[in-house]
Amino acid sequence: MLSASVRRLVGVIGVIAALLVAAGLPLGYGLSAYRIETELLSFKARSDAERLSKFARPQGESWRRHLPIAEMPDLPADDAARPVRRRILAGDEVVADLGEALPVPVIVRTAPITADKGLIGRVEIEASMRPLLERTAAIALAGTALAALGLFFLFAFPLRTVDRALGTLSRHDQDTTAQNVRFQAALDNMPQGLCMFDSEQRLTVANRRFLEMHKLPSELSVPGPSLRALLVNAAHRGDFRPDDGDIVDELVADFSRPDETWTRTLEFADGRLIVVSNRRMPGGGWVSVHEDATDRLRVDAQRRRAEAEAMQLRQQERAAELANRAKSEFLATMSHEIRTPMNAVLGLAATLLDADLGAEERATIAAIHESGESLLRILNDVLDYSKIEAGKLAFEELAFSPAILIEHVITVLRPRAQSKQLTLTTEIDPKMPPALVGDAGRLRQVLLNLLSNAVKFTTTGGIVVTARCLTKTSERASVEWTVRDTGIGIEPERLATMFTDFAQTDASIARRYGGSGLGLAISRKIVEQMGGEISVTSSPGTGSTFRVVVGLPWADSLDLGERDDHKSIATLKARIAALGRPLRVLIAEDNPTNQLVTVKMLRQFDVTTHVAADGVEALSALDRMAFDVVLMDIHMPEVDGLQATRMIRKRGGEWLNLPIVALTANAFAQDVKACRDAGMDEFVAKPVRKDVLVTTLVRVLDGRPQAVEKVPAAEKAAHARLRDHARPASADMDDHVITELENEIGTDGVQETLAVFLRETEDRIARLRALASLADRATIRGEAHTLKGAAGTLGLARLSELARTLEKRADGINATTYLAAVESLDAAFREGRAQMPERFHTAS
Ligand code: ADP
Repeated sequence: MLSASVRRLVGVIGVIAALLVAAGLPLGYGLSAYRIETELLSFKARSDAERLSKFARPQGESWRRHLPIAEMPDLPADDAARPVRRRILAGDEVVADLGEALPVPVIVRTAPITADKGLIGRVEIEASMRPLLERTAAIALAGTALAALGLFFLFAFPLRTVDRALGTLSRHDQDTTAQNVRFQAALDNMPQGLCMFDSEQRLTVANRRFLEMHKLPSELSVPGPSLRALLVNAAHRGDFRPDDGDIVDELVADFSRPDETWTRTLEFADGRLIVVSNRRMPGGGWVSVHEDATDRLRVDAQRRRAEAEAMQLRQQERAAELANRAKSEFLATMSHEIRTPMNAVLGLAATLLDADLGAEERATIAAIHESGESLLRILNDVLDYSKIEAGKLAFEELAFSPAILIEHVITVLRPRAQSKQLTLTTEIDPKMPPALVGDAGRLRQVLLNLLSNAVKFTTTGGIVVTARCLTKTSERASVEWTVRDTGIGIEPERLATMFTDFAQTDASIARRYGGSGLGLAISRKIVEQMGGEISVTSSPGTGSTFRVVVGLPWADSLDLGERDDHKSIATLKARIAALGRPLRVLIAEDNPTNQLVTVKMLRQFDVTTHVAADGVEALSALDRMAFDVVLMDIHMPEVDGLQATRMIRKRGGEWLNLPIVALTANAFAQDVKACRDAGMDEFVAKPVRKDVLVTTLVRVLDGRPQAVEKVPAAEKAAHARLRDHARPASADMDDHVITELENEIGTDGVQETLAVFLRETEDRIARLRALASLADRATIRGEAHTLKGAAGTLGLARLSELARTLEKRADGINATTYLAAVESLDAAFREGRAQMPERFHTAS
């Protein structure tokens, strides 16, 4: 559009200029040349006439005849080339005609000849106009050519440039328009509302979403209404919440603040929440993005509420859990504490039963004893259950034989089954892996419970215990144990709650058969903590089948579970070989059982051992012989391990480098500290485990004893011991311990040690009986301590536990309690001995 009008204008100007050049030039020239020519001719005519007038006056009438033609002035020199014709006329008579006829067109100029009588003739001068015309025509031609050339250049070059410029301009114009369209489309398709206000707070840009959000007409003019007008309008419509009193003023003030960016959430009466993010613009005004955050903020708020509720719930749960745990801990502590006096009661009752009693008294005391026994069983169950509840039940992971496990369980229950004339058979799947890795002690507890229930609730027929391998991969085996009886069975409605806590609510059964009703609940917890499951099928009058399925890692043989031990054994052998002579070990230990165990643990190595029964002997042995390492018991008569170590270190020199390893049942922080302060290098907790002993010796030989306070094995063992102490001493014999020892020192090693222990213990109990006067409490304490350690080593859990209690109470105990305690020790010793696995019976 612009291009066409400009082009027309330029064209008109060009044509006018061309016309001016083409026509104006010759016209101007022609006119001015013509004027000059005519004036020149007029001048000549006049001067000729004047001269003739002067001549004619004296001549009178005859002037015509005597005309002095020769005196006629000639034309000026410059005009000589110009052909001129002169005629002198008197009236109409031509007096003289000078010159030839000239090419037309001609111009003629006349001048009068006068005499006294007035006008007597005239002079006519004519000149041809042709040369003038020819020149004018030439000029016109040149002018036209010039104009044409000018027009050509004008149109050919500048216009094209202008045209191009205009084209570019127009394209830019189109681009800009297209861009604007795109920009607007983009703005309109934004999910957020967008608007811009200028420095006068007038709306200058608004996209569709913004207009929709704020219910504004889509044809809103730009620059549109002011912010205040928009807000007032919205307030008028009731868009804002009614309680937003001065919202208009507040918002106007908010948008007038000087901040670079700011955000504000607008709450609308219809419940919408719009987050407005603003940014100030360089030239004044601002741009705002309006986001409808109703859903998001609602969801956020809901989420926050839900989180707060969940948090509260968690806190409540945690509080409940803590309370429950505290309760369980309390129960655990209480039942543990009650067991000690209970044992005393049982011991006293047992002693009294040995005395000479009347029938009635005997019956009464037997009832006391029996009740005490069942109370103790309940206490043990409660203790176990509370420990599981309090999360204090840790599982061991050691290799065990599932077949031997069943054999052990059967052995324990066989006498009871036999006394009821029940058959007791086992079925063991030949596909069963020879060894599994897990907590055999706990599995045994479960199976014992199932089997003792089966015996308890069966009067005729028998019980079958099976072990079957359900699935087996290269690493794990899923093993099923079942206990099937032909007993009274269980009512269908009770089956569902069999394994829930305190299931035995059938008072008649409780009365008839006894029991705490906790056994199955404990079993379930144990099995579930192992990742397995326990279930029952039963029909009243026919019998019940209890089933335990547990998935456990399996090993090819019992040894395989101890591959690491193999490695450390090989390492120790290599270290000793590097010495080029036997390793010389001094064992300072007063307890013969433990002396023997330690010696046997080392017998597979090239080691010379020397045993010292107390600190004094140890010191004298060190004086007489050279040793590479001392294994030092802490509790020893005469000079104890700590004192002996201090004395060795005091000697200074090379004595400072002698490795001394503490062997102690006390592995708490203060004991560890005492060992370190005394100058010991390493720390091995009792009962000593072979793998720990071997790795400790390797470290010592490598010259890198572990700082005693950093002995995790010791800590672990201490905790394990604690656990063992807390474990109900209902089982007189912990097969697990002796099986482990058997793995370490062999069956013959255990038999030999056991023989020593049994002999020793017989004597020890006799000595303790003889100390009944309580005159020598220190000896009592020492004997109890030694007994505790030895019994612990061989897995006589209850005996060890009773000895521990006696050791602790030795200083304050009274004669009666003491006697009862000694009798309990004796009873536990005998029972434990009876419960020894059959293969060790040759020892006793
Ligand atoms: P308790 O220590 O009292 O035996 P349990 O938890 O082991 O407690 O058993 C709970 C109850 O389940 C028993 O009192 C008995 O009623 C029932 N029960 C368990 N085993 C059998 C079984 N083999 N035959 C019949 N009833 C059984």
